[in-house]
Amino acid sequence: MKVYNTLSKKKEEFIPLEPGKVKMYVCGPTVYNLIHIGNARPMIVFDTVRRYMEHKGYEVNYVSNFTDVDDKIIKKAIEEGVDAAVISERYIEECKKDMEAMNVRPATTHPLATNEIDGMLDMIKDLIDKGFAYQAEDGTVYYRTRKFKEYGKLSHKNLDDLQGGNRSLLVSGENQKEDSLDFVLWKPKKNDEPYWESPWCNGRPGWHIECSVMSKKYLGDEIDIHAGGEDLVFPHHENEIAQSEAANGKSFAKYWMHNAFLNIDNRKMSKSSGNFFTVRDIAEKYDLQVLRFFMLSAHYRSPLNFSADLMDSAKSGYERIVTSVSNLNYLLENASSGSLSEKENALLKEANLFLEKFDEAMDDDFNTADAISAIFELVKFANTNADAAKSAEFIRELKDIIVTLADICGLIVEKKAELLDADIEALIEARQAARKGKDFARADEIRNELLEKGIILEDTREGVKWKRA
Ligand code: AMP
Ligand code: ZN
Repeated sequence: MKVYNTLSKKKEEFIPLEPGKVKMYVCGPTVYNLIHIGNARPMIVFDTVRRYMEHKGYEVNYVSNFTDVDDKIIKKAIEEGVDAAVISERYIEECKKDMEAMNVRPATTHPLATNEIDGMLDMIKDLIDKGFAYQAEDGTVYYRTRKFKEYGKLSHKNLDDLQGGNRSLLVSGENQKEDSLDFVLWKPKKNDEPYWESPWCNGRPGWHIECSVMSKKYLGDEIDIHAGGEDLVFPHHENEIAQSEAANGKSFAKYWMHNAFLNIDNRKMSKSSGNFFTVRDIAEKYDLQVLRFFMLSAHYRSPLNFSADLMDSAKSGYERIVTSVSNLNYLLENASSGSLSEKENALLKEANLFLEKFDEAMDDDFNTADAISAIFELVKFANTNADAAKSAEFIRELKDIIVTLADICGLIVEKKAELLDADIEALIEARQAARKGKDFARADEIRNELLEKGIILEDTREGVKWKRA
């Protein structure tokens, strides 16, 4: 398996630090609003990387943070007249709902910055002790960038070019820095901002320190993969490397992966430019599986332009797979069981070639575009070769290959038969009748049966209400 490493600017063979295990950290969103589909790109891309690694047999420890202390969160809290925690908790919940709707699996751990302040204080103290950080007069703690000799190695920037570009900082208020390249580890609180006590001042952490600390706590000093959108390469990830490697004395992440931007009219989609669609906006028009398909139809390192036309073609692509699987299910219902014929065996061997093609594409730095083409070829093969004369075993196996490959991409292509509203109402009536007749065991049984099918009952004063989970 080859992975493009931003650090070396090359595709490298993936060799985990520990055989069979992958430690992976993905920088998560700042939670002050509903996420937009630009934020969804790294979620979908790295969830797919994780799924593929698991398919290859790795045990993946996947950590992704929520940044829940930040200027934008505080600003929104002031606007609404509530605590910052109210804002961040609200949008973490909403973000988790969006992730689930996009079939992005929850991380092994989703740490929150505000729960990890002690670890941040420890690392900052450590950096000061080692001479990599210093306290300015107003209590701000800065990282002494020039002291870290490899600074710039990820973004391939030259320190002196950066110095020139950053000169204005020296005269713009941050004049307590020793050097314009130095960045904040801890800063004093302003007005009514949330704050924590520290040896330097009552204040809060800079943004970069949180990821160094959370990665260390949940995955250890050295990890396999650190990932995020390409806007994070500089300064965020460059600064994380400087912090972690100076504090831990070890190399931080072996592979650095970055997704390219999701654009609109060839401009990065972003909250601040106002050119964005939230995941919720898209969910009003499309099944979010279509969004997922759209994201994976391009290689993750290629910019992807969002347009209604491309979404419509993603929709028809996705539906082509769904239809094929549903046809196979239809054939399966009527097919007779028996052992595989010689011809069927030969056909399955041919079908497995598409599986190999899929793996080959994914092994080449997660080329999901080619991997999806392999699924299409398989679908075409299934549409041509599965018919009423084939055995149930053959059809089932063919279907399983398609569903498995789609699942590695996180695409749900086999729709579970949904209960119709009328069936649900009928079961609720039967449950009420059972309760009336004091047959509580039967009533519970019906409730559980519905729950298994994703229907939640709620007994209210106005009667029984239900919703789909
Ligand atoms: P933020 O909340 O801005 O820190 O972003 C969370 C994640 O989304 C980071 O990995 C960003 O790099 C990524 N991201 C933000 N906007 C885009 C975009 N338009 N395209 C791709 N990734 C993005
Ligand atoms: Zn980060």
